[in-house]
Amino acid sequence: MSAESITAGLGAEYAATASEAYRAALQVIESVEPRIADATRKELADQRDSLKLIASENYASPAVLLTMGTWFSDKYAEGTIGHRFYAACQNVDTVEALAAEHARELFGAPYAYVQPHSGIDANLVAYWAILATRIEAPGLAEMGAKHVNDLSEADWETLRNAMGNQRLMGMSLDTGGHLTHGFRPNISGKMFHQRQYGTDPTTGFIDYDAVAAAVREFKPLVLVAGYSAYPRRVNFAKMREIADEVGATFMVDMAHFAGLVAGKVFTGDEDPVPHAHVVTTTTHKSLRGPRGGLVLATEEYAPAVDKGCPMVLGGPLSHVMAAKAVALAEARQPAFRQYAQAVADNAQALADGFVKRDAGLVTGGTDNHIVLLDVTSFGLTGRQAESALLDSGIVTNRNAIPADPNGAWYTSGIRFGSPALTTRGFGADEFDRVAELVVEVLSNTQPAAGPNGPSKAKYILGDGTADRVRAAAAELLDANPLYPGLTL
Ligand SMILES: *Cc1c(COP(=O)(O)O)cnc(C)c1O
Repeated sequence: MSAESITAGLGAEYAATASEAYRAALQVIESVEPRIADATRKELADQRDSLKLIASENYASPAVLLTMGTWFSDKYAEGTIGHRFYAACQNVDTVEALAAEHARELFGAPYAYVQPHSGIDANLVAYWAILATRIEAPGLAEMGAKHVNDLSEADWETLRNAMGNQRLMGMSLDTGGHLTHGFRPNISGKMFHQRQYGTDPTTGFIDYDAVAAAVREFKPLVLVAGYSAYPRRVNFAKMREIADEVGATFMVDMAHFAGLVAGKVFTGDEDPVPHAHVVTTTTHKSLRGPRGGLVLATEEYAPAVDKGCPMVLGGPLSHVMAAKAVALAEARQPAFRQYAQAVADNAQALADGFVKRDAGLVTGGTDNHIVLLDVTSFGLTGRQAESALLDSGIVTNRNAIPADPNGAWYTSGIRFGSPALTTRGFGADEFDRVAELVVEVLSNTQPAAGPNGPSKAKYILGDGTADRVRAAAAELLDANPLYPGLTL
C-alpha cells in the first residue's frame, strides 16, 4: 500500500497552489485582526508538531478546508432542496443536492440529510424524526387532524406529553456510549426516559444476550447503537433483531467509525446502513471531512428527517454543506478505502505494541480505530497519564473504562485513535514505535501527593523523559509531514 494513496488529496501535488491560497487568505485576515492570523499560523504549527492520537480528530484536505471559506456562508437557505423559505437559493440547492447524493452513494442509503451542524444536531434531528414518525403522525391521524396547528390546545398538550414520555436505550457511558444517547446532563436524557446496556464485565465485549434481555424488559421506543470509546466492532444485524423483537426503532450513531463504513472495512453485519432505520454521524472524525453531521434514513423515516429544519435546525451552513460534498467525493475514491483499511491495521499495530509491552487494554485489543489503555496497569489515573503524555508531546484524552474506580473526571483510561496519524502516512511500524513511546512515558511517571494527601491529578515525570520522547516523536513526525510542502 503506497503512502501517497493514503494521503491522497493532502499530499505535495496540491502544496504549491494551497500555499498560495493560504498565504493570500492570511494576508487578508491580517489586515483586519492580525492576532487571528497569528493564532491560525500557530495552530498549523502545533498540529504539525504533535503526535495526535485523539480518536475523534483527523486532518481534512486543503480542498475541504478551502471550500468552507466562501460566500456560501452568507446565504440563508432554511427549508430543503427545491423548497426553501428564502429566495435565490439555486446554488445552495446544487450544493446540498450534491452532498446528499454523494452521501447516499457512498453509504448505499436511500436518503441522506446533510444539514446538521454537528453530531449532536444530527442526533436531535434523528430523535425528533423518530418521535414525529412513531408518535406525532399516528396521534394526529387518531385525532382526525392533518397538521399540529389544527389541534385544540388540549389535544396538542396530550400529543406533546406523549412525545415527551418515550423510552430510549443506549450504551452506558462507562462502556463507551455517548452523552447524546439519553444521559441526563444532555438534552437527550431530558427528552427520554433512558436505560442502558453495557458490556460483559469479564471480556469487555457487548453481550448480545444481555442486551436482548434488557431490551425485552424495558421495551424502548428507540434502541441506539454506536459509541465513542468502545474498541470493538458491533454486529448491527443482531442489534436490529433485538430491536424488532419489541418494535423499537433501531438507530445507529456512527459518528466515530463512519470512515470505516465509508471505506468498506465494516461490511455485512458490521455495516449499520442496511440494518438501521436511521443512521447519524459526524463528518469530521474518521470520515475526514469538515466539522458537521448528517443523517441517513429509510424511506419510512426520510420525510420526517427532511423536516430537520424547522424541527430542530435553523438555516443550514451552506459553506459546510459544500465542504461535506467535497469530503464525501474524496471518500468515494478508491484511495479512501486504502486509508480506512490502514486506520484499522494501524490501530491493531498500536494495540499489539501495548500488549507485547504488558500494558493493559480494555477488551485486550481492538478491531476498529480505537485503543483503550487501562492505566491502572501503570499505577496512574487517566488524568495523570494524559498530562504526562502531553508534557512529552503526545496528545490523547483520558476516558472512563468500564466500572471505572476513578470516576468520569479523573478516569482510569487513555483513549487512542489511529485516524489522524494514518492521514499523515504513519504505518504499522510507526504505530508500534508510538506504543513504545507511550509506555516509556507512563513507566517513568509516578503518582504524586497533593497538599492534603494522595492526588488523582498530580504526578512526577522522570527526569529527561519528556525531552527524550519529544525528540523521538519529532523524528516520526518529520518523516511523515502534515500537508507536505504547504508553506505559509
Ligand atoms: C463525537 C460524537 C458525537 C457528537 O458530535 P459533535 O459534532 O461534537 O456534536 C455524537 N455521537 C457520538 C457517538 C460521537 O462520538
